[in-house]
Amino acid sequence: MSLVDLPLLPLGKGRDLGAERGVECPGDLPAASDPDLVERARAAKAALGERVFVLGHHYQRDEVIEFADVTGDSFKLARDAAARPDAEFIVFCGVHFMAESADILTGPDQKVVLPDLAAGCSMADMARLAQVEDAWDAMADAGIQDQVVPVTYMNSSADIKAFCGRNGGVVCTSSNADVALEWALAQKAHLDAGAKILFLPDQHLGRNTAVLQMGMSLEDCVVWDPLQPGGGLTAQELQNARMILWKGHCSVHGRFSEDVVDELRAKHPGINILVHPECKHEVVLKADLVGSTEFIIKTIEAAEPGTTWAIGTELNLVKRLADAHPDKTIVFLDRNVCYCSTMNRIDLPHLVWAMESLVAGQLVNQITVDPDTERDALVALQRMLDLPGKSHRD
Ligand code: SF4
Repeated sequence: MSLVDLPLLPLGKGRDLGAERGVECPGDLPAASDPDLVERARAAKAALGERVFVLGHHYQRDEVIEFADVTGDSFKLARDAAARPDAEFIVFCGVHFMAESADILTGPDQKVVLPDLAAGCSMADMARLAQVEDAWDAMADAGIQDQVVPVTYMNSSADIKAFCGRNGGVVCTSSNADVALEWALAQKAHLDAGAKILFLPDQHLGRNTAVLQMGMSLEDCVVWDPLQPGGGLTAQELQNARMILWKGHCSVHGRFSEDVVDELRAKHPGINILVHPECKHEVVLKADLVGSTEFIIKTIEAAEPGTTWAIGTELNLVKRLADAHPDKTIVFLDRNVCYCSTMNRIDLPHLVWAMESLVAGQLVNQITVDPDTERDALVALQRMLDLPGKSHRD
């Protein structure tokens, strides 16, 4: 089987124009040092009035969050957008896959705008459709495709969600990954050979959920590496596995390490370690609590004054939590500053530029999902919405 040809060009050896989209904004992008930026943002938002609905992801900068009508995780924001059918423009201060989900869940006349098209997600980019189709073919060659249900994390591109919709699979968030896996296993419970899951694109969320919540062992899990022929796995390994984890990770949550957990415990006896399930399995094993961004926020809100917390999630959120709870000691679970660099591409100049362009009647940076992809992605999203229990948060 041939590897999918990806435009990964060594520096100085060529250009991938597609990957450079959005680096330059046409029109008048205000300078970051413009002292009138805040006033310009206020004026543009006021001029748009009810026509615009601004969404701010928890990991956004404070200067952007200030202008958000609602804040939340990616799925909450997409649902919030769907609940505002009167808003002509949805300005999504998040990353590309989130804006795609908002476009899928909003009406055909609503326009979703991403203030900087270069705000992608490194995790979502680790699973491209052609690579996933290649893996799917390999599973057919290994004689296991009929047993496999694809499950994709919300943090994936629309075409990966559509792939899951077409192939009997489902979307999940970090809050309901266990329920989604249960559902997926039940789809193939009638097979004597047993069910398997292809989990995309975050290997850590997949492994943490399978092992810590579903009673599987680490040996039940294998990792499909899209950059290796045959995923780096033999047919026998695929046949033996129950969880086939895509080799993807979040570049922010993947940084947290066991060493820092040990260091903080030694330095602050009684400290509580609270991490997101996108962290590595070894880190999650050492933590006191693990959960979604909404879980992290609620846990800190409910914590006793005087308690000490180290939080393993994106730094903007950790900093805001620390500012909002001066009665608790809240530290970041990494030695270095670590923002989501792509999320942080959305800054005040880009937000001002996007909104002022809309005021001037110019629609910029619209995110659209083609109708076929949208139809199939909606199937997988609807299966998630139909799952029993838990809220659908990530
Ligand atoms: S924090 Fe991680 S998963 Fe979230 S947008 Fe950034 S790279 Fe993607």
